[in-house]
Amino acid sequence: MVQSILKDVELSVLSAVVFAVCAALIMSEYDLGVTLLYTDLREYGLWYLGISFVLVLILQDTYFYFIHRMFHHPSLFRWMHYGHHRSGDSTPWTSFAFDLPEAIIQALFFVGIVFIVPLHFITLVAVLMTMTVWAVLNHLGFEIFSSSFKSHWFGKWLIGPMHHSIHHHKYKVHYGLYFTFWDKLLGTEIENYAGIAEGVTISSIKIEE
Ligand SMILES: [Zn+2]
Ligand SMILES: [Zn+2]
Repeated sequence: MVQSILKDVELSVLSAVVFAVCAALIMSEYDLGVTLLYTDLREYGLWYLGISFVLVLILQDTYFYFIHRMFHHPSLFRWMHYGHHRSGDSTPWTSFAFDLPEAIIQALFFVGIVFIVPLHFITLVAVLMTMTVWAVLNHLGFEIFSSSFKSHWFGKWLIGPMHHSIHHHKYKVHYGLYFTFWDKLLGTEIENYAGIAEGVTISSIKIEE
């Protein structure tokens, strides 16, 4: 356990460096005046802060779903995504434990998005904080929501610790980041996920091979 946490921390430090380099890249793009980042709240109005925040989460979730599925391709997994799965049972330290290619591809989303969607710096920071908190929650290794939350009209669209823990054990399902939308639409959510009762262990969950 201690060994795998240390390895996760090692990869997380590497990821932090990659994200810091990308942040520096974004700031230099901003200084050159080539991004859609803005600082004046009146430019798009207050309501746009909320809209753009949700929009970026949806776009990042979509980007993540497809790169994540790609990482699980047998020819890529070993050198692009193994680091994230190395510890088996995830802990919060696993949240940002990425191999170098994965860290770069994940961080590139932010380098690119500032050219596509007008974003206030507040929104960009809010997205980064949401990503961090959500990642830690999803890697807790134990469920924090009640089992009925999985079938709640809103809760069923959100990825939580149980949903992502299943991915860490069953590589062929649950590729999403924030939302279950793509997993549901493309059939990569385990059957009857909402019906999994409280206390069921992940190893006892069967999926079709
Ligand atoms: Zn994975
Ligand atoms: Zn994970």
